[in-house]
Amino acid sequence: MRRRVIAGNWKMYKTIADTRAFFAAFSPMVADANYCDIVVAPPFPSIAAAVESTRNTKISIAGQNVYWEKEGAFTGEVSPAMLKQAGCRYVIIGHSERRQIFGETDEMVAKKTKAALAAGLTPIVCVGETLAEREAGHTERVCEAQLSNGPGALTAEEFSRILMAYEPVWAIGTGRTATPEIAAASHRYLRQCVARRFSPELAATLRILYGGSVKPDNIQGLMAQEELDGALVGGASLDAKSFASIVSGAM
Ligand code: PEP
Repeated sequence: MRRRVIAGNWKMYKTIADTRAFFAAFSPMVADANYCDIVVAPPFPSIAAAVESTRNTKISIAGQNVYWEKEGAFTGEVSPAMLKQAGCRYVIIGHSERRQIFGETDEMVAKKTKAALAAGLTPIVCVGETLAEREAGHTERVCEAQLSNGPGALTAEEFSRILMAYEPVWAIGTGRTATPEIAAASHRYLRQCVARRFSPELAATLRILYGGSVKPDNIQGLMAQEELDGALVGGASLDAKSFASIVSGAM
């Protein structure tokens, strides 16, 4: 049985004060949610406030991005060890906004994932096709390439320590969720790729989150698919009540 994970990606939203206010409201709402792991990824400057606000809770904090070098002249970047020391347990890698706006490649995703693992972080590696790719019938080809050129470069032992997120780009921030069946088909395909690349055992234990316009009113339908091991939530994770209701929907 794979334990579910509900992760919130705040993107470039929430100041330190907003972060404290969010957790003051959110933490009590999910205090009894022992059935899943809860992760929140604030922007870098709000990580310390998030870690402090969640100290006596089961909520874990994630970075939204990381660089692969330990230190150096890399203006604007942060290292895995810096995130770890700041109190992060997870890090999102290869989000479609990183790929599309900042030119991140599968090879960069592979390097970031390896470095994050070496520092003791749990990477949440994102893959997913654009609308044009889906309409051209290339969904499987794109997901397979992102998987094999990204986390496919890991050793089996390293791969056993990552989470993946299937996030169709056309569903992110658009209000257009993949149907539970569409999401499940992609998750099943990714699992087949993992079985081929690594082993059926790793494929069976890998947790794959679905991301793309997950809301309180569609989480239960999505979670009814046994292929889906949780959700990566953008917009709806910014409001404490709405995110808590998504956590409840993962029960
Ligand atoms: C995301 O940012 O990963 C995401 C899925 O966003 P949204 O839930 O807003 O579509």
